Amino acid sequence: MVDFRLDERQIAIQEKYRDFTNRWIIPNARKYDLLAEFPWEVVKAAYKEGVMNGPIPKQFGGNGYSLMEGALAAEELGAGCIGIGIGIEANTLALTPLLLAANEEQQKRFYGRINEEQGVAAYALTEPNAGSDVQGIKSTAIRKGDKYIINGHKRFITNAEVSTFLTVFALTDPDRGSRSLSAIVVPTNSPGIEMKPHMLKMGQRASVQNEIIFHDVEVPVSNLLGSEGQGFLIAMKTFDRTRNGVGSLALGAARVAYETARDWASNRIQFGKPIAQQQVIGFMLADMATSIEAARALVWKAAVAFDQGDKKASMYSAMAKLYASDIAMKVANDAVQIMAGDGYSQDYLVEKVMRDVKLNQIYEGTNQVQRLVISKSIMR
Ligand SMILES: Cc1cc2nc3c(=O)[nH]c(=O)nc-3n(C[C@H](O)[C@H](O)[C@H](O)COP(=O)(O)OP(=O)(O)OC[C@H]3O[C@@H](n4cnc5c(N)ncnc54)[C@H](O)[C@@H]3O)c2cc1C
Repeated sequence: MVDFRLDERQIAIQEKYRDFTNRWIIPNARKYDLLAEFPWEVVKAAYKEGVMNGPIPKQFGGNGYSLMEGALAAEELGAGCIGIGIGIEANTLALTPLLLAANEEQQKRFYGRINEEQGVAAYALTEPNAGSDVQGIKSTAIRKGDKYIINGHKRFITNAEVSTFLTVFALTDPDRGSRSLSAIVVPTNSPGIEMKPHMLKMGQRASVQNEIIFHDVEVPVSNLLGSEGQGFLIAMKTFDRTRNGVGSLALGAARVAYETARDWASNRIQFGKPIAQQQVIGFMLADMATSIEAARALVWKAAVAFDQGDKKASMYSAMAKLYASDIAMKVANDAVQIMAGDGYSQDYLVEKVMRDVKLNQIYEGTNQVQRLVISKSIMR
């Protein structure tokens, strides 16, 4: 049976995140967009109210959410501010490799530390010459006795400068290339880490991204996740779990842009009647509402497919991220167009949504890369 009604637990999660967003994210969204700083006050409140570390198991201080529950939570965060929401979700991105490959001692140690510090982690995969092409990674982690010595260069790493630790992907045997890619937890205060100032960017300005250079950074071998050479698999399996969240954040932002434009158009009188009554505007709003419903159906399907262990779950995750971020970009653009001068003004948040959602088409694999994943899957 296909049933789109949420159960009591799911409704409670949705309400909890909606309430948190209304009290903490919406009132701070414009402030951090203008400041372009990490919103620590919101993250501390999120810890206090149990809004952090959604998918981390309960025994390690998280909420133990399924992907479907995570999708409901992320839509609400996105409805407040994707920039603030991604600070929370990028922490999940960095902790997911531990969920997949860490042993119990490592989970206790690293999840314990994040919870104790009420901090965030960062996922360090991308390099100057390895963006879409993860197999081009050149950073190295060479074993010397009971340590790895890390050298290399990462960029665009969300949360890096505020993180407790980085989940770093590096080659343990450069001669074997990406077959030796490995995932290693690196405390951010390790000597030899050079953190460049965070990048200035178009949208999602409440989140921070840094370039990082590793100069002979030493970490104990006990920080290796899984075994040497499992890094590529861990990175890809991480995205299977997290891409849905990127789609959900975009969906929440699209919902808000649409509702703002709908309400504005219902009240704005030109030529003697509300402009929503002009058929061309009414049809735009109809298309926006329809694409949001379709995106939500796909995001939910992808989440449930993952939770049920469907063989095609990774394809559905790619579809959900691709479709939800593409329609969010179009909805935001149309919302600004409907609201015209007011849409372009900072008096409303639709201009911010338009800047913010662009990034959901880019990170965790560009939408071209999602199409590659989907096309490979459907040709198989
Ligand atoms: C704000 C922000 C936050 C980020 N956060 C993180 C993070 O926390 N951790 C992390 O590791 N990374 C992060 N990233 C990196 C992000 O995932 C990459 O930017 C993204 O994967 C694209 O890589 P690139 O920018 O190097 O573009 P490139 O890979 O150089 O791509 C350039 C263009 O070529 C297209 N292209 C590339 N290959 C193909 C192909 N085979 N077929 C068709 N088209 C192709 C791309 O779609 C794109 O349009 C972040 C990026 C940004 C901007």
